[in-house]
Amino acid sequence: MKKLCLLFGLLIIFLFSFQSSLTAYAQDGKDYRVGATSLNVRSEPDMDATYIGSLETDSVVTVYEERYGWARIDYNGQTGWVASHFLYQSNQSKKASNNSDERLRGKEISVAVDGVYIRTGPGTNHSIIDQAYQGESFQQIEQKNDWVLVQLENGETGWIAGWLIAQSSKGRGKTNPQPQTSSNSSNHSLKGYNIVVDAGHGGFDPGAIGIDYSFEKTLALKTAHTVAKQLRNAGATVIMTRSGDQFLALEERINISQSYDTHAFISLHYNAYPLSGVNGVSTYYYAGGADRSLADEIQQQLVGKTQMQDDGVQYGDFHVLRENSDLAVLVELGFLTNPHDYSVIQTNNYQLNVAQAITQGVMNHFND
Ligand SMILES: [Zn+2]
Repeated sequence: MKKLCLLFGLLIIFLFSFQSSLTAYAQDGKDYRVGATSLNVRSEPDMDATYIGSLETDSVVTVYEERYGWARIDYNGQTGWVASHFLYQSNQSKKASNNSDERLRGKEISVAVDGVYIRTGPGTNHSIIDQAYQGESFQQIEQKNDWVLVQLENGETGWIAGWLIAQSSKGRGKTNPQPQTSSNSSNHSLKGYNIVVDAGHGGFDPGAIGIDYSFEKTLALKTAHTVAKQLRNAGATVIMTRSGDQFLALEERINISQSYDTHAFISLHYNAYPLSGVNGVSTYYYAGGADRSLADEIQQQLVGKTQMQDDGVQYGDFHVLRENSDLAVLVELGFLTNPHDYSVIQTNNYQLNVAQAITQGVMNHFND
């Protein structure tokens, strides 16, 4: 939500360097192809090391050494390091020119089920870099055996198992939320409740920008999908204001909420602050009464389940709360600018805890 963070934003590629899919160690160097849209080159094998340049998609580099997920290359005559995660063996794909053409013509595919893993390479032995949910659509770049290489929202690429996709004819960026109900749960205590899950920001509005140039909009969307799934498992009908990376004005979010018989509107955000020591989770309400009580229930569950610093339930004069006649709260799920929060909030475990906490908070509110 913090405006100052909007000042950064463009021209930035973020890297993950958790695990390596690079298996070869070669003294004399071995050629690899760059699989990211733009891959940062640094002076040392460290995310905080000096940035010395970047490599284009499909360019071929010679790797001389691999260390902790970083690959040593020669960059314009000097030693450089790149996240090896984004390198593929260069003989695994066609020449760059063919590949670009293919990318432009790439067909759109959509994910057939919830929780599909996106991996660094075409096989279940490769590292997981993200998760996709039913109906999410991607541009296909290439296909290898039963695996499909797709373009991700953050500009990177990843592989999805072909048997988990459905051909898609839907366009992107159009807001047409469809309510979905759950059919596979024994606990239906939220049956009959319509919940709007609102992932903050999106499209050209990245929201807060944190460590490693992480975008609030990306994490908020991931959380929104996880929360929506958990609410559906509890029997709720869930409407998402956005299910992809698209811009949505605050008024549109409220319109979506008010075009349904909404019982609760929950807006999901991550925070940022100039002082990196500031951390924690908080829940905001605008009106007292029911809004305040829902905020209390959610905050209590969040702190209990995630063990994050409790920044409390607070009054917040946010547009999506103030102008919304439905029961509405806004949740700030941690600081992208705090190293501890940042390392925790990206884990699948944290995402699941948040989803369970919000669902339990909503159930407590309606069932008490
Ligand atoms: Zn925000």
